[in-house]
Amino acid sequence: MRVILLGPQGAGKGTQAQRLADRVGATHISTGDIVRAEIKSGSELGKKVQDYNDRGELVPDEVIVEMAKSYLDDADSWLLDGFPRNEAQAEALEEALDEIGEKLDAVVALEAPDDALVERLSGRRQSQATGKIYHVEYDPPPEDDEGPFIQRKDDAEDAIRRRLEIYHDQTEPLKDYYADRGLLITVDAEQEIPKVTEDILGTVGREDDA
Ligand code: AMP
Repeated sequence: MRVILLGPQGAGKGTQAQRLADRVGATHISTGDIVRAEIKSGSELGKKVQDYNDRGELVPDEVIVEMAKSYLDDADSWLLDGFPRNEAQAEALEEALDEIGEKLDAVVALEAPDDALVERLSGRRQSQATGKIYHVEYDPPPEDDEGPFIQRKDDAEDAIRRRLEIYHDQTEPLKDYYADRGLLITVDAEQEIPKVTEDILGTVGREDDA
């Protein structure tokens, strides 16, 4: 499986990518997770990208493309979460895949309205103890997870607005880009988590059979 998960912040790309990766034995490649890991490690790269991340701005294309490429090289079967985010990145990905002789199977666009996304993101917290993600209202942590529960810097309200604005301006046009290539599948991301996973598997599976 070589699939891109496209969608606004809060649509559940990370959750779905992880569930799909577990089901089909593919590697979940999240450029956002890679960026956050670099920041946490205090590496030179981390210092370079921290400011962009915290403000909700995109990291420069050349930096993120290099990061993504090294992970793609290492995995045979993958789910890309958070990359590409604009047309220049989509073209860079196409070139990188050509170079290694790989082909995209499908691009899954997860769709949900902005007000639902803001609600999901502003309540999102991550346990520092277990790494698990919760929602203060819809998915509160169980008693045996002691936390502490941290809010991502870019889940602050100003940064959420900026991220959604960038999504609509730069990332959403990729739906047309991939529809033109016959690769786009759209899924309603407001459904329950397991139903979204089944919808994706059903549709990507059918594409494979065609
Ligand atoms: P995410 O968790 O996917 O929302 O990513 C968090 C942050 O990492 C973004 O707000 C950007 O600063 C950076 N980032 C992740 N993926 C990309 C990308 N494909 N292009 C540029 N910046 C990215």
